[in-house]
Amino acid sequence: MSFDQVISHRRYASLPESFYTRQSVKPLLNQNWIVWNRSLARTLRFPEQPDHVLLEKLTGITAKENFSPLAMKYAGHQFGFYNPDLGDGRGLLLTEIEDIAGDIWDLHLKGAGTTPYSRMGDGRAVLRSTIREYLCSEALHFLGIPTTRSLGMIGSDTTVYRETAETGAFLLRIAKTHVRFGHFEHLFYTQKYDDLRLLTDKVMNWYFPQCQHQENPYLNMFGEVIRRTASMIAFWQAYGFCHGVMNTDNMSIVGETFDFGPYAFMDEYHSGFICNHSDYEGRYAFNRQPQIALWNLTALAHALSPLIDSGELEESLASYEHILNEKYSQLMRRKFGLMMSMKGDSGLFQHALELLESNRVDYCVFFRTLSSLDCQPIDKVIDLFVDRISAEQWIKRYILRCEQEVDSNGFVVSAELRCQQMRSVNPKYILRNYLAQQAIQAAEQGDYTEIHNLLKVLSHPYDEQPEFEDYAKLPPEWGKHLEISCSS
Ligand code: AMP
Ligand code: MG
Repeated sequence: MSFDQVISHRRYASLPESFYTRQSVKPLLNQNWIVWNRSLARTLRFPEQPDHVLLEKLTGITAKENFSPLAMKYAGHQFGFYNPDLGDGRGLLLTEIEDIAGDIWDLHLKGAGTTPYSRMGDGRAVLRSTIREYLCSEALHFLGIPTTRSLGMIGSDTTVYRETAETGAFLLRIAKTHVRFGHFEHLFYTQKYDDLRLLTDKVMNWYFPQCQHQENPYLNMFGEVIRRTASMIAFWQAYGFCHGVMNTDNMSIVGETFDFGPYAFMDEYHSGFICNHSDYEGRYAFNRQPQIALWNLTALAHALSPLIDSGELEESLASYEHILNEKYSQLMRRKFGLMMSMKGDSGLFQHALELLESNRVDYCVFFRTLSSLDCQPIDKVIDLFVDRISAEQWIKRYILRCEQEVDSNGFVVSAELRCQQMRSVNPKYILRNYLAQQAIQAAEQGDYTEIHNLLKVLSHPYDEQPEFEDYAKLPPEWGKHLEISCSS
C-alpha cells in the first residue's frame, strides 16, 4: 500500500478560509524516520515500512494531489488568562484519513515550521519533547485512557534553540480531532456568531452525530463534551497522571488527552503534585485537575452562550461533578478489586491514599502489590510503608472488606479471581519520567533502542514481562525530581 492509496477527507478544510490558513510544511535537514507505529499504520492503510518517498510526500517535498496542509486558528485561556493570538504555531493538519473501519482521523504534523500563528516561536518541536509525546500518548492508549495517538517520529540535523541547542523533529499525530475548546472561544470573543454556529453544527455532525436528533442538539452536545471530559479526568486521577498545561487550547472537544508537555505519571503519591516546573502557583497540580477541567468547561459554556440558554448551560455544568465522581469511584473500585458498593468503601479508599501520601509510597507499585495478594503475604504491602502499624491496620480492614465480596450466585469472590481482575487494571509498567529521560538521552546520541524497548513494554502495561522487569522498578534517586518545563 502506498501513501497515495490512503483515503483522504477534507472536513475541516471545507470550512471557510477564515478558520485556518493554508500552509506548507517547512522540511527539516536530512529528515529521517526514527519510529513508525506499524500496527496503527496498518489500520490507517499506510505502508508497513515508512520510506523516503513517504517522508517527502508527508512533508510536501513532492506533492500529493489534494494535499493542502493547514494551520488552524484558535484562541484560549492560558493559565487563566485569555489569549486571542493562538493557533497552530508549529503544527499543521496535513489531511484527514479513513481507517479500515471507516472512521476518519486527523493526520497532524507537529514541528512543521512557522505559520501566521507562530508569534515569536520558531515553529519547531525538539526531539526531546517529540519523544515525550510519542511515548506518553501510546502509553495512555494501552492503559485504556482516551488520548491522541502517534503514528511516527522523524528526526533531523536541524538545530533548534531552546535553553540549549537541540535537534528538530516531527511528530505525526493521529487524533479524532484537533478542534479544541479554544476554537469556540476565538469565534465568541471575535463576535463571529454565524461562524460559531457553523463550527458547532459541523463538529456535531462529525463527532457527535447522535446529538443531532435530540430535542436540544446544542445543549445535548455540550452535555456530551462534559461527559467525555469528566471521564477523561477521572482516568487521569485514578491512574496518577498529571497533564501539566490544562489551558483551554489544550482541551480537545472530544475529551481526548491532548498536547503533551511537562506531563508526568506520579511516582510517590502526592496529591498536590505539580509536574510543570513553570507552574509556580500550582494551578495545574494533580489534585486541581478536576476543578480546572470544570473551569475550562465553564469557559467553553461561555463561548457557546450565543447558541444555548445560559440557565441550561449552568444546569449542564452542574452535572460535571457527579459524572466525574461516579467514573472515578468506578475506576478506583476496580483498582481495589471491590465490585460491590458498600458503606465505608470511599473512607477505606481515602484512608489508603492518605497513608500513601504520608508514607511517600509509590502509587503504581502500591496497587500492583495489592493485586498480588493471591500469591503473596500482606507483608509485601506493609513493607512499602514506613508506618507499618497503620499500614497493617488498613490492610486488615481491606481484607475483611474483600471477604464480603460475593458474585452473582452469592459465592464469596476468591482472592485469585479478585487479584486477576485487579492485575488487568493496575499496570505493572507506567511511563515514569526517568524512563522517558533515559530514552531521550540515548536518542540524542543516535541510539533509539530505549524508545523501542519502552514502546514494547508500555504496549502491554498490565502483563508480566520478565525480560523487562527493570522497567517496573522504582525510580533511581536522580530520576525522582526531574524538572520539566513548558519549553518544548
Ligand atoms: P503549547 O504550549 O504547545 O500548547 O502551545 C501554545 C501556543 O503556542 C500554541 O498556539 C502553539 O502553536 C504555540 N507554540 C508553541 N511552541 C511554538 C513554537 N516553537 N513555535 C511557534 N509556535 C509555538
Ligand atoms: Mg497546545
